[in-house]
Amino acid sequence: MIEFEDVSKRFDDKAVLAGVTGRVEQGEIFAVIGPSGAGKSTLLRLVDLLDTPTGGAIRIDGTDIHADKGQSLSIRRMMGMVFQKPAVFNTTVAENIAVGLRFRAADERAIREKVEDALEIVGLAGYGERRARTLSGGEMQRVALARAMVIEPEVLLMDEPTANLDPVSVEKIEDLVIRINRDLGTTIVFSTHDMYQGQRLAHRIGVLMDGAFAQVGTPREVFTLPASRNVARFVGIENVVDGVVVAAEDGMSAVDIGSARIRTRSPFSRGERVSLCIRSEDIRIAPAIRGRRVFDGNILPGTVTSVVPRGPFSRVTVDCGFPLSSVLSWKAVEDLDLREGSQVTASFTAASVHVVRAGED
Ligand code: ADP
Ligand code: MG
Repeated sequence: MIEFEDVSKRFDDKAVLAGVTGRVEQGEIFAVIGPSGAGKSTLLRLVDLLDTPTGGAIRIDGTDIHADKGQSLSIRRMMGMVFQKPAVFNTTVAENIAVGLRFRAADERAIREKVEDALEIVGLAGYGERRARTLSGGEMQRVALARAMVIEPEVLLMDEPTANLDPVSVEKIEDLVIRINRDLGTTIVFSTHDMYQGQRLAHRIGVLMDGAFAQVGTPREVFTLPASRNVARFVGIENVVDGVVVAAEDGMSAVDIGSARIRTRSPFSRGERVSLCIRSEDIRIAPAIRGRRVFDGNILPGTVTSVVPRGPFSRVTVDCGFPLSSVLSWKAVEDLDLREGSQVTASFTAASVHVVRAGED
């Protein structure tokens, strides 16, 4: 439905977007995730016709939206936009929501009904006559969402819609996004620097880095099979280790990382430089063992260098010749009596190592 073809955008000398290519399908929730400054807002503003690309094309249902100015109005009418900073006009809540309908010259009764419905949906029934500026940030953002929704857009664009909100408001907005998509079939494109929000809401995610999509895929693909070292880092894979494939056979390979040889499953051949991505959750810590053990994976002896609380878990870092980070429950840390200096073995299966080609970064 929305196609990005080699979209670029420069501001003066600065190339912010350089070759964004991808597709958003009709009826899906698509998240654009990426670090701050990656160009997420710039990309959404291009779709919303608030700015024009320097090169490439954005097509909606086949129409290049920037090519024909005569079509701008009808294209804009297909779209609703919610900005990062909750923005409301200095009028009543009801008037704020009615703005788009008035542009479309809907009749008063229809407007009133639609506004009432929208207030109900966003959980602000009875707020219609309040001054919008007196609301909390989270309420204002829901008004902004109601204003975007009431015109029944085919595409709802949301630029970091919850970035400045308290957790309760974040949850309400997230619920609304899911409901709007499910009940009305609205295609939703939202941006976030919060990878977990992308994971919670999106059917598919585009990871914007260095001016382009470094990866487009389902949350599961992006979070467990990141396409590059940079994506792996961004989606929170704590162990990313560089090495060289030294043996490869039947989809199994051994990777020399300098201080150890790691068994992995990967399609790469001997001599290729790769990065190994290993999630902390997949690393088991056990008391130091002596002698050999038969295990179709990796067992590395090491010394605990830190035990740091992280929510309900503890992050245990082990020096195995290289730092390896693991997460354990507090109870496991106590049972194993882990502390700085403890001798342990860290183990992980070959299948839990995700191997990517080493990047230039
Ligand atoms: P994100 O939303 O991912 O944080 P932005 O799209 O806001 O990133 O910005 C990407 C880069 O483009 C930033 O370096 C920003 O300073 C720059 N930028 C954005 N808008 C403009 C503009 N109107 N003029 C000049 N530079 C801009
Ligand atoms: Mg932004």
